[in-house]
Amino acid sequence: MIRPIVLWGSEVLEQSSERVTNITDSELKLVQDMIETMYKAPGVGLAAPQIGVSKRIMVTDTSSGEKKDYLFTILNPEIVAAEGEQYEEEGCLSIPGFSAPVIRPKKVVLRGIDLNGKEIVLEGADLLARAFCHEMDHLDGKFFLDHLSFIKRDMIERRIKKLIRQGKWE
Ligand SMILES: [Zn+2]
Repeated sequence: MIRPIVLWGSEVLEQSSERVTNITDSELKLVQDMIETMYKAPGVGLAAPQIGVSKRIMVTDTSSGEKKDYLFTILNPEIVAAEGEQYEEEGCLSIPGFSAPVIRPKKVVLRGIDLNGKEIVLEGADLLARAFCHEMDHLDGKFFLDHLSFIKRDMIERRIKKLIRQGKWE
């Protein structure tokens, strides 16, 4: 089921999400909904808080559903290694209409569990590394805006707040 994407300004996006301790039908359904919502958007990644659920779950597909084996689901992910640097334009499904260049590692390694509760290790480079870092931020209540200079971030936030006041932020 495609779910509405929660936007900047919503409390669930500012909280640190809870670890998943039990994988039940509700988590399986949640992941299915996250995948469908990500593809519909379309986006290359989605974190559970973005559909209003404060749980440490992320999905990514840097091929946007075009290629097999590009879809990753990871629960309770942690970044266990990062190297290099990349500086590319980044946007967010929860901040539609805004983007900015953000420095991210060139490569990252995530460790977490899959939907069977088994430990998995995922390696990502370039766009996938960026997606992993971006979704990790959401699980910690952060946005790509937090990586910008104060001035740049303030400028974007003021514009968003104006849209909220005008009732155009939806
Ligand atoms: Zn995002």
